[in-house]
Formats: sequence, structure tokens, C-alpha cells
Amino acid sequence: MLKVNNVEAVYSKIILALKGTTLQVPTGDIVALLGSNGAGKSTTLKAISGLLYAEDGQLTDGTIEFEGRLLKGLTPDVIVRHGIFLCMEGRRVFKDLTVEENLMAGAFTRKDRSNIKKDIEKIYGYFPKLQPLSSRKAGFLSGGEQQMLAIGRGIMAKPKLLLLDEPSLGIAPLLVKEIFQNIKQINKEEGTSILVVEQNANVALSIADYGYIMENGRVVLQGDAPSLLSNTEVKEHYLGIG
Ligand code: ATP
Repeated sequence: MLKVNNVEAVYSKIILALKGTTLQVPTGDIVALLGSNGAGKSTTLKAISGLLYAEDGQLTDGTIEFEGRLLKGLTPDVIVRHGIFLCMEGRRVFKDLTVEENLMAGAFTRKDRSNIKKDIEKIYGYFPKLQPLSSRKAGFLSGGEQQMLAIGRGIMAKPKLLLLDEPSLGIAPLLVKEIFQNIKQINKEEGTSILVVEQNANVALSIADYGYIMENGRVVLQGDAPSLLSNTEVKEHYLGIG
């Protein structure tokens, strides 16, 4: 479904952030993109979603192909319409809008307006904690609740591919587990393909089909999730159980 092929990306014409990144997301799979700080994970998501240009970045080599279509040169809003939705790090929900208004905002590209109410109920099914908060302003939610809302808003766009940037960031461990189980359920029930960037390799690989590990702008290791979880090198460097 998604093929990132040998992609090179620079910021401000001089900072080389991706040095030939190659990865794939097959239809219906959850793929984890792991690695330490500054490895190039977020830049990969920005390159896919067209947001690199907004940060004075550009692709200088390689190709990104989604369902057989090259994404190069497409603006972020066109890429959303092709079915790719990015949930950014730091959540970025609309803090002055209510939970329900945020969810409705996620559906802005959709033509099937009549199903929106029904889909909002579905989001409350995936994230039961959000239902009693439906008329509360998003700015008053906890970090974990805002993260759930950000993912729920993404699902309201009915994307084919959901890109998640560090959903565990700054969230209590128990809630992290819950959010990842919710992500797995969405993948199963909606059939949404998911590419999730995480520093918490353990929790991401617990729901993923396949994983890539990036270092210094390149993929240095890849494999299906069980094999990465049992790989000694991965255990020592990324799982914190040396
Ligand atoms: P983190 O988890 O810390 O966000 P990451 O793996 O997502 O790490 P990136 O954010 O993709 O890493 O950063 C890759 C490299 O690009 C780093 O060296 C970073 O300093 C640089 N970089 C990222 N964003 C910008 C930007 N807007 N302008 C200039 N350099 C940037």
C-alpha cells in the first residue's frame, strides 16, 4: 500500500535528516517505526504526509508511493484526500472546541455527512473514556484523553492509512497500554493500515505486525514483531531489558 523508497530529506537545505530511508506498509497491517531521538522517524512521517515543506524541508531523492501513486509534489490536503492522515506528536487537538466538535472537525473531507453522528458513537465505542467528556472543551482533558481524541479525530476522516507520531509520549504507562489496545481494535474493525512511530518499542511491537528500527536517517534493522522482540540487539538497545 505504502512504499517509501530510498528517501533522502533535508531541512533548511543543509541538515540531512533522511539518508536513504526505505520501508513499506502492506494493506491492513500495523507497522512500527522505532529508534532513538533524532533518528528521523518524525521526518519520515512528515515526508509521507507532505508536511515537510511547512518546516523548510524537502525531499532530495527517492520516491514515496501510495496505492501506486507517487506522492511527490502533492500538498498535505490532497494527501489527506487520498486517504493518509497524520496524528502529530504533542496531540494538537483544537483546545477551545469540545470533544464532539473536534471529532466532527476530523470528518471535514468526507462527503457522507449523514454517517457522521453514527461514526462519532463508534469512536466513543473505541474510546469509552471520551463519551462522558463529549461536551467538555478539549483543552481541559488530560494528556491521555487528548491523545485518544487526536486518534479518534483521525479515524473520523476514514483514512486508509493512519500515521501516528509517538502516541505514548507523556502518558501514564497504564493508559499507554489501553491506547495501544484501542489502536489494535481500530485496525481490526476498520481495516485501517497503521504506521506508528514510537520510542517505546515494547508497547509498539506488542500490537505491530512488522517493525523497522531507524538510526541516523536510515533503517538499520527490520523484521516481524515477534522476531524483533526476541532479537538480542533490539532487547539491549531499544527494549530496556539488556
Ligand atoms: P524524536 O523522537 O526526537 O522526534 P525522530 O526520530 O522523530 O526523533 P526527527 O524529528 O525526524 O527524529 O529528526 C531527525 C533529524 O532532523 C534530527 O537531527 C533533527 O534535529 C532534525 N530536524 C527535525 N526537524 C527539524 C526542523 N524542523 N528543522 C531542522 N532540523 C530538523
